[in-house]
Amino acid sequence: VPGLDDQEARALVAQGCRILAMEGLVEGILGHVSVRGRDGSMLIRCRGPQEKGLVFSASADVRRMSLDGTGEELSDGWDAPKEWPIHAELYRRRPEVGAVVHAHPPASVAVGLAGLALRPIFGAFNIPAMRLGLEGVPVYPRPVLITRLELAKEMAEAMGYRPCCLLVGHGVTAVGPSVQAAVTTALNLEALAKMTLQMAVLGARPDNVAPRDLEELPDLGSSFNDDTNWRYLCAKESALSHRHGAEAGT
Ligand SMILES: [Zn+2]
Repeated sequence: VPGLDDQEARALVAQGCRILAMEGLVEGILGHVSVRGRDGSMLIRCRGPQEKGLVFSASADVRRMSLDGTGEELSDGWDAPKEWPIHAELYRRRPEVGAVVHAHPPASVAVGLAGLALRPIFGAFNIPAMRLGLEGVPVYPRPVLITRLELAKEMAEAMGYRPCCLLVGHGVTAVGPSVQAAVTTALNLEALAKMTLQMAVLGARPDNVAPRDLEELPDLGSSFNDDTNWRYLCAKESALSHRHGAEAGT
């Protein structure tokens, strides 16, 4: 990611993990965020010897590894997440990808299991989330743990060049040019899934947003959708972590 030095990139990955935990997309110790590093490497949230879960992620938890799964920083009790091939395969195949999120968010998993289509059912409530439904969310149908590059390739094939993918019986993968964008896409996907799920529980089947209304739902641009929202999420996370006396907060 241009413009980010190594320490900033590690801090951003840790911040992304804490935000996903705060917003309920990851629970406990499962899930990971990475950013593309220099020379064909990636900086990825690893599991440490004193692992306490994603909500307590710090820069030291973010280690450099190569796209073939090796790295000098994977030592002293630090292990790559088992599903590291998801990240490696997406960086290898998609040069536009600067960051990857993999998580197991409950509403997205429920929607996948129920076979519910993610459609543009709301409008101004959350325009970027609506757009994910409008443009279509690809589905990877196998509930497998993606511990091998062959499986990561299958998932990446299913995902195509979209910003996110639903992994049935498993979770989601989201990508973007930056950590901020990838995390925001995962949050928006979960927001769309949550509303889709609630409608299904109620037995309601809302229509898609009509074309004439779509014209009044502009793409507000990444500086509003991602940057402004990111500042809010960082401020909220910082306030909560201080209140709870957590050790995070880089
Ligand atoms: Zn997973």
